[in-house]
Amino acid sequence: MFFSNLFLYVCISITASMIIASTPVMATHERGQLHPTKKKKNKIEIVYPDNAPGIASNFKSRLGINGQMRPAHLVHQGIDIKGPVGQPIIAVADGIVLDAVVEECWGPTIVIDHGTAYDGKKLIALYGHLGEMIVESGSKIVRGQLIGRLGDNEHNFKCIYGVRHLHFQIGQKYRSDNREHQWGWSFFLEDGNRSLNPHLYWEGGIGIITCFNPKSNPKTGYITYPVPCN
Ligand SMILES: [Zn+2]
Repeated sequence: MFFSNLFLYVCISITASMIIASTPVMATHERGQLHPTKKKKNKIEIVYPDNAPGIASNFKSRLGINGQMRPAHLVHQGIDIKGPVGQPIIAVADGIVLDAVVEECWGPTIVIDHGTAYDGKKLIALYGHLGEMIVESGSKIVRGQLIGRLGDNEHNFKCIYGVRHLHFQIGQKYRSDNREHQWGWSFFLEDGNRSLNPHLYWEGGIGIITCFNPKSNPKTGYITYPVPCN
């Protein structure tokens, strides 16, 4: 199991690094939106609202949630946000729940089809490593809706690495069948190795993490933070 997983990861990651190598610069400045300064090539500077829980392991990070370096070919395909037991997890946009299942490595995971982003890309969001799932497959949900909570199961599932956190990831191609030999993001996505950078889709602009605000009019094609801000 371990070695076949490793092989799968290596193959996928080689493909991913080829793709990354061929797209040298994020479209930050091309879109002409908010122009956050870029720290270095491929990096979008992240702006947090004061009250937003931080990202413990960022998109494309090689530093894992457990403080260990990932191998060079295993870059992070989502963002990790730590939280206490019971931490509410909320929908980043309106959508339809495709899955609310317990995946063998990731644990309880919700997949939501959030429709099409402002740039025409599909937004298939994975909310992984949950403790409790409050919605079920087929449920129609709205932005900001409570969909689940973190639990005390961080030692029960290998992919949570003993550190309680939400893993949030956006793919475009949902895997609806042929899941028998798949695990982790690959169980849910066909293109999980080419996941979208969530920082391109915040409602407030590229790199500007945007908290859900029940009073503001949601902009379609954009997302808000998957945890409430205090
Ligand atoms: Zn993660």
